[in-house]
Amino acid sequence: MIAQDKAVAIQYSVKDETGTQVDSSEGRGPLWYLHGHRNIIPGLENALQGLKEGDTFSAEIAPADAYGDHNEALVQRVPKAAFQGVDKIDIGMVFNAQTDGGPVQVEVTAVEDDVVVVDGNHPLAGKALSFSGSIETVRDATEEELAHGHVHEGDNAH
Ligand SMILES: [Zn+2]
Repeated sequence: MIAQDKAVAIQYSVKDETGTQVDSSEGRGPLWYLHGHRNIIPGLENALQGLKEGDTFSAEIAPADAYGDHNEALVQRVPKAAFQGVDKIDIGMVFNAQTDGGPVQVEVTAVEDDVVVVDGNHPLAGKALSFSGSIETVRDATEEELAHGHVHEGDNAH
């Protein structure tokens, strides 16, 4: 049963409010995570608590329990001159921006004559998410996994 310190593998798909699929484990194997260690968003972790191998799940998760509310302070208007060396700036382009809090990924959301609007929110911030899927594996975590705070499976055995 899924509880604190269990290593868990799930198959899942996730849709936003419009019903558009935004992510899925399909085609790349299950998602492994260490339960109770905030490897996954809090709302999904809460929804999976107590489930066991073979169970299916569906969960509607509010933005605050997913990737957070959309923060307007992370939307900024930047002079085009700041993008030296970039030939053409298009909506949807992602740049690494230096901030006081370290490097942040920002996405271009609008391009005006002399100004580029960039958004540093997570692409899924402010969105309610609808998860569905199944529990593939539940096992005890190893001591090493607990020390690292993540599961060692596949490419993540470090
Ligand atoms: Zn590790």
